[in-house]
Amino acid sequence: MVEIGHFIGGRRVAGRSGRSAEFFKPMTGEVQGTVALASAEEVRQAVLDAAAAQPAWAAQNPQRRARVLIRFLDLVRKEFDSLAEMLALEHGKTIPDARGDIQRGIDVVEFAIGVPHLMKGEFTEGAGPAIDMYSMRQPLGVVAGITPFNFPAMIPMWKFAPAIACGNAFILKPSERDPGVPMRLAELMIEAGLPAGILNVVNGDKVAVDAILDDPDIRAVGFVGSSAIAEYVYGRAATRGKRVHCFGGAKNHMVIMPDADMDQAADALIGAGYGSAGERCMAVSVAVPVGERTADRLIERLVPRIENLKIGPSTDPDADFGPLVTRQHLQKVKDYVEIGVKEGAELLVDGRGFSLQGYENGFYMGACLFDRVTRDMRIYREEIFGPVLSVVRAQSYDEALALVSDHEYGNGTAIFTRDGDAARDFASKVQVGMVGVNVPIPVPLAYYTFGGWKRSAFGDLNQYGPDSIRFYTKTKTVTTRWPSGIRKGAEFAMPTS
Ligand code: NAD
Repeated sequence: MVEIGHFIGGRRVAGRSGRSAEFFKPMTGEVQGTVALASAEEVRQAVLDAAAAQPAWAAQNPQRRARVLIRFLDLVRKEFDSLAEMLALEHGKTIPDARGDIQRGIDVVEFAIGVPHLMKGEFTEGAGPAIDMYSMRQPLGVVAGITPFNFPAMIPMWKFAPAIACGNAFILKPSERDPGVPMRLAELMIEAGLPAGILNVVNGDKVAVDAILDDPDIRAVGFVGSSAIAEYVYGRAATRGKRVHCFGGAKNHMVIMPDADMDQAADALIGAGYGSAGERCMAVSVAVPVGERTADRLIERLVPRIENLKIGPSTDPDADFGPLVTRQHLQKVKDYVEIGVKEGAELLVDGRGFSLQGYENGFYMGACLFDRVTRDMRIYREEIFGPVLSVVRAQSYDEALALVSDHEYGNGTAIFTRDGDAARDFASKVQVGMVGVNVPIPVPLAYYTFGGWKRSAFGDLNQYGPDSIRFYTKTKTVTTRWPSGIRKGAEFAMPTS
């Protein structure tokens, strides 16, 4: 049994609140260890340590700060295999998928290494007589990130790498369901030369989150998780005057036009719908074929592909996907399937009875496919976050476009077509933050930014990319005038140029 505490002041420390939670090995269903749940006092201690360390870190020149990240990348690469294994065993995803989780975090660390350039301000010579004007970006101080279970390496790195590169100190509150990897990443940052106190990990639940939201010395909060909590975090942190952006849940649609290559579309749907057991905020959970014939052609390709899916333990290199994260979540997903049946959707493939020989206590379920789902059904409106794909038949392109745009979530979407006009129209008009054309999971690369629309995001700036530099810095603008440009006598009117 592993006991995980917190990472405060540059080292692992035991929890002192007397509260802890179990976390599991989803592939076998066993308890893997316990994780401490921080009290408000423990969070406060981490913030005080961070606040004490931050000014000296901010005073280091940006190239030196970037060098710590360069060394961190070397260390992460050396430990890639063991990090991926730890991640897979705590989360349940397969090892190749866990490697992707780490790599997409590394991408953002690589972006953050450009901080000497990214933080540069602007300068105008001669803005008036002997007047020059310049702007600079300065770190905020202590900032915090609250992250979900489904990407325990990638999303912490999305948050702390740009924040720390900009000269901030960081408090990370990762998910209590898979806490091992975030702790190890913090240790590697210290090994890479990060001063103690600049990256702290406080494990915990609502108590720790509320302490972060209320702490007077935390200047900004980034959150990723379900929409209800995202909205709560946004409201509470914003009323306390913090800069805040929160990324929430999703219901990502893939529109399949009649001219699409149906085999390509079916392959894309299988990977995007069932990869990582559907526990991705960019997973496709709704297929929208346009026209009855398109729907029939698509479904006749989907069903045999689903029947051939290989579900296995996270350590099986040939598994397409592994177990869900907890027994409780598994039950919730199965309950949604039951709701769909009662609502009148046609369950074409039912994976609820799936059991894996030798792993009967693991949190597995097979893939499910619903046809003739309609927009009033709960299985269409709500995020399920499991291996459940719904087909909603649209009679026209306009109906498909409106369906996607009207949904309350707006994280990602895709259109599969060979028609450039349709693709261009869709990309331009659809009310969703990230769009793929023949790309089922259009996660932007690290030098763009990631963020949905509508109830998939609360706040203004996206995460990673140039927006992350804006989020983790404040702008100061300086106007200078030298004596040679100053006229004699007091001036009372607003200057005009
Ligand atoms: P979650 O909302 O349960 O938890 C997210 C974080 O909030 C965790 O750190 C958790 O400890 C904390 N938390 C949980 N309950 C809380 C409460 N009542 N008060 C305060 N804090 C609380 O989400 P999850 O199940 O870990 O992750 C899955 C969700 O995250 C899905 O909805 C998925 O779509 C979403 N997600 C979104 C994005 C995105 O960028 N939009 C990316 C990944 C995941």
